[in-house]
Amino acid sequence: MDLRERLRDTDEILLHYVPLHSLLADWGKDLESHLSEWIINNPEKYQDALRQSFAAGCDFACTMTQSSSPWRAEPFGLRDRIHELNWRSAKLAKEVTPPGRYVLAIVSTTNPDFLEPLGNMTYDEVYEGYKEQISALLEGGIDVFLIVGNHIDEALIAIEVARDLCDVPIISQNIFYSTKNGFRTMMGDNPIKASAKLEEVGVDVIGGSCGLMTKSLDTSEWYPAATTLIKEMRKGCRGPLSIQPDAGLAQLADGKTVYPVSPEEMVDEVKAWVDAGARIVGGCCGTSLEHYRKISAAT
Ligand SMILES: [Zn+2]
Repeated sequence: MDLRERLRDTDEILLHYVPLHSLLADWGKDLESHLSEWIINNPEKYQDALRQSFAAGCDFACTMTQSSSPWRAEPFGLRDRIHELNWRSAKLAKEVTPPGRYVLAIVSTTNPDFLEPLGNMTYDEVYEGYKEQISALLEGGIDVFLIVGNHIDEALIAIEVARDLCDVPIISQNIFYSTKNGFRTMMGDNPIKASAKLEEVGVDVIGGSCGLMTKSLDTSEWYPAATTLIKEMRKGCRGPLSIQPDAGLAQLADGKTVYPVSPEEMVDEVKAWVDAGARIVGGCCGTSLEHYRKISAAT
């Protein structure tokens, strides 16, 4: 059964991908190196991490290519290697993905410049840049896109490119921040408006990820804040939703980045996410394999 049929014909809850950038940091990936370049230089570690995430119950192997667009690879001196970075990561993920699980190709918004009028990049530049990345991911055999980021107009261009090139399902997630007026994207859209824009262009799953779910330092408020976000997104769209909050606010302890919200706190809230409309659940930065084992056992 392909992913679209599964979302349409069953009420299964699927587990999002383990945020491998957090896991690989514990396995020797330094902060300075480019993630895709590190992955293709350490293929056995990447594939081992994916195997472990499948064993923990994940349904998706992520290509971790969020920094492999022309714009984000350029500062690392990798502008000429876009095809290799994306194609190779996708192929490595495909090699270890069992039947019934999916290779998830992550595509993110531009950085450091933005689409005009806020930035200096033209529609054509952004379209062509995404085309270069997305074509290579497709060649690597990916099953589904995760188009995620801070800038919905750029995400809409990436969605357009994907639609022009293929019929692969698309999950699109906005990064939301807690503000005094409620959740907002970096560009100021609320979850209702942001979700409605994505539904209008026909993406398969709409969601929220990463970002700042609450400003409270009380960890027990972190995952319930994600429930509030799902309920808000639900007001703007009718299709399946996904949610992927960080495991709290990053903190520095003994020179290492740690995230404070526990697997147990996540399990306690997952049912509320599902009741609010989420069909794909998981966590972003700092979410460990243990978080996934626990939510896999509970869903
Ligand atoms: Zn994150």
